[in-house]
Formats: sequence, structure tokens, C-alpha cells
Amino acid sequence: MEKLLQIGDLTAEKGQKVSGEYKVAGTDLTVPVTLINGVGEGKTFLLTAGVHPDEYPGIQAALELKEELQPEMIDGAVVIVPMVNYSGTVQKFGYKLPADGKNMNKVFPGSPDGSPAEKLAWAIHTDFHGVCDYNIDLHSGGEEEDMEPLIFFSMIGGEEQEKVSHAMAAQTGVTYLVRSSSSNGEYGAASTKGLPSFLLERGGQGMYDAKEKDENKRDVLAVMKYLGIYRGEVAPAAVTPVDAWPAVYLEADCDGRWFPNFTHGDKVREGQVLGVIKNWMDDTVVAEYKAPFDGVVLYYTTSLSIKKGGALVAYGKLDW
Ligand SMILES: [Zn+2]
Repeated sequence: MEKLLQIGDLTAEKGQKVSGEYKVAGTDLTVPVTLINGVGEGKTFLLTAGVHPDEYPGIQAALELKEELQPEMIDGAVVIVPMVNYSGTVQKFGYKLPADGKNMNKVFPGSPDGSPAEKLAWAIHTDFHGVCDYNIDLHSGGEEEDMEPLIFFSMIGGEEQEKVSHAMAAQTGVTYLVRSSSSNGEYGAASTKGLPSFLLERGGQGMYDAKEKDENKRDVLAVMKYLGIYRGEVAPAAVTPVDAWPAVYLEADCDGRWFPNFTHGDKVREGQVLGVIKNWMDDTVVAEYKAPFDGVVLYYTTSLSIKKGGALVAYGKLDW
């Protein structure tokens, strides 16, 4: 970490903590940011949350960490963006950006000439990914998702970077680690900029849960400790994560009623039926979804009504 940490109009001298609003160029959007420039030398860690503005345990974990972390606890620096989609969170706008109705998790790396969501993504990608060395993006499951605590770690930055991302993920207390080739989310974009990175999912159904929030905080601090950035002690995790990949993401072939046969964390044998779609007007099964290999249900959609192309279930390979 160089002496001065600077992002947008915000600057933090060595040993200083600064909070303020980052203005997204070409839009009315602002994003709350906290810069913690540590007293010691080290790398710069980026914590993001609220890319999906209705995923609360991650947002609240980041909000508490920005209050609790002090420069005296840090070698290097920490940049915290607790609500990437700030307007969406305060306006209670579901999972999209109010300004253009886009899902921020699908628009990275964005564009300086695009819609507000694309400009916001581009700003994160250039001004934040450009000055940081590592990234964790906290999510908490969607409003129609019930899921295992899990991590998607990026494989798109090459073998060496992937090893670091996986080692970071192994410090956490989630149940499963899944390799990801996604590039249109925040952590994938970070990976293309050279940052070992992962997306941590814990929670779901639009709920705020204090225990999940505390587990998120522990996991973030454990990773920062592993990277030599956090000086404090971190309690051991209650769970040791297990690799579960490749993962398949089954989508609906037609409209109808979705009936999953398993809950998240259930282990399933190859060929077992994960769920079916039935007609609305009678009990005819119009689509059936079988496990492609022995594995585990990572998450599934909990709504009865399903539209063609909608997510049904995510399933990871596991030897058991
Ligand atoms: Zn999310």
C-alpha cells in the first residue's frame, strides 16, 4: 500500500479512516465508501456487498465492519463498499437498480457510455478494482432462493490467481466451494483485473439474520488475516468447506408450477429426479430434471410459479 489511498474524491492518508460518498460519473448515483488506510505495510483488500440490494446479511456485515475496523488493526488497506446498489437498498427496489431496472450482477465490467447500471459497474471496475489487490463480494441469496452457505470463486484469472482465490475461500465457514467462470458479476470482473476474488452467498428468501451476518464478518476477517492484512484474532470456523464442482444450473424449459424434490444440502445420486414442472390446468408433468451426477443441491428456487428460462436448481458434483 502506498502512502495515500485514493478513490474518486476520497483520500485516506496512512493511518487514517475516511468515509464518504463516491459519485458515479455520468449518473446521479452515489455509493457509500469507507477507506481504511492501515498503520502497517501490506496489500489492499476490497469488500463489496449489496450488488443485489435486497440481500441483507452481507450488507449489514459490511456496514458493521466499516465501523469496527480501525487503521491500527490493518497492515495495508481496506476499502469497504457496503451497498454497491445503494439506491436499490434504500428504495427497497427488489434485486435490480432503480435507475434502469438492470441486475447489477449481470452487467460487469460495465461501460462508461452505457446505462446507469453499466456506468456504475464500470466505475467499480476501474476505480476500485484498479487500486485493490483482493476482493470478496458478499451476497445473501435471492428472495426466491433457498441455499447452502457457499462460495463461487473465480477461475477466469488464470491458474495462479485461482489457487489464491481457492485458498482464500478455504478460510471461511461456508459448506461448499464452487469454481466459477462467470465474468459479468462484480467478482468475475475483479478477477479479470488481476484480483483473486470470490462471491460468498449466505442467507436467502430476502431475510435478515443476525447469525448469518456474524458468520459473514468472521469469514471476511479470517480471509484478511490469511492475507496478512488483519492484525486481530479470528475464531475458528464451525464448518470446513468442501469442493463441489462442476456445478450445473438447471433452468425451466417451460412455464408452469415448480416442485423441487430436495432441499439445499441434500445429497443426490446420479439419475434421481431433482424436481418437476407441472401444468397449471391439470396435474400433467411437463418437464422433469434429473441429477447429472452424484452430488449435492446447492440452492433451489422456492416459488411455485416458474417462467421458461427461470432458475430451478443449482447442483454441484460431490463424491459421497
Ligand atoms: Zn446476490
